[in-house]
Amino acid sequence: METLDLSLTRADFETPEVLNACNPDFLTGYVHGPIPNNNPGWLPLAVIDRVLQSGRVSLIKASDITDGLARNPPANPLVTLNKENGLVCDIAIYDPIMCGMSFNTQAQLRKHLRNVHPGATANITSRPKSTADISNGINSLKLWVLSGGWRDAIYMYEPGRGPEKSVIGRYCDALERISREDLDFAHKYGTQFHRRPCRSLSASDIEELLGK
Ligand SMILES: [Zn+2]
Repeated sequence: METLDLSLTRADFETPEVLNACNPDFLTGYVHGPIPNNNPGWLPLAVIDRVLQSGRVSLIKASDITDGLARNPPANPLVTLNKENGLVCDIAIYDPIMCGMSFNTQAQLRKHLRNVHPGATANITSRPKSTADISNGINSLKLWVLSGGWRDAIYMYEPGRGPEKSVIGRYCDALERISREDLDFAHKYGTQFHRRPCRSLSASDIEELLGK
């Protein structure tokens, strides 16, 4: 359902900072995908030890990743995820197909990243977001939605409107409203910014996309 948020205008999106936003930024990392997993299959040693002892897979904690980086470091560097992000897991599982699992808190997203893609992103520390995190994050998310990147992205798990607590859905609502009110804007950027209703990918869809 469309929100009644009228606070965002064309001037909030059509700025040099938004139109030139870098993703990933060299300092603050990725805001959205496709985010590479440079170490698929990597597990920290403490987790491997626990599996060998108990025969069961246990939850991977942030301390397990820190310990693993020292004891059995992955072959390739982990990438940085900006704390200001859209709360959707944008790890590229089979490039260009991204994961798509959606969360309503950064803690839930971090837990998912540690447990499902442990070799992909560096642990996010408890330090507060920096000014650069926030500005790069917001500008990149605005460009992601404005450019149709979000609308056209291919996800394994369809995120729909995006998580309730994410700004992505709010940006889509605002851009679709602006495009209805401003023909010049609509000509320039289009009229659809939300994802089109679609189902999650099946195994045969993925094979077809990968050309197998
Ligand atoms: Zn994921």
